Amino acid sequence: MTDDPQVPVVCPECGTETEVALSALAETIEGHNESRHDGEACAQVDPGLAAELQDLVAEDMGLLD
Ligand SMILES: [Zn+2]
Repeated sequence: MTDDPQVPVVCPECGTETEVALSALAETIEGHNESRHDGEACAQVDPGLAAELQDLVAEDMGLLD
């Protein structure tokens, strides 16, 4: 199964919002922060989605029943 969902990544410093494949996520964020922000953790997964993902995962596991 090739499940590789697109994840929104935002960088408030650059004012950019892009979609990145989950498999390339860490690499992309790290690369961006290394090259644009001297290694500062500016770019990150959209905080709204991160919360949503946690809800979905919790729901999947039946934690919300
Ligand atoms: Zn940036």
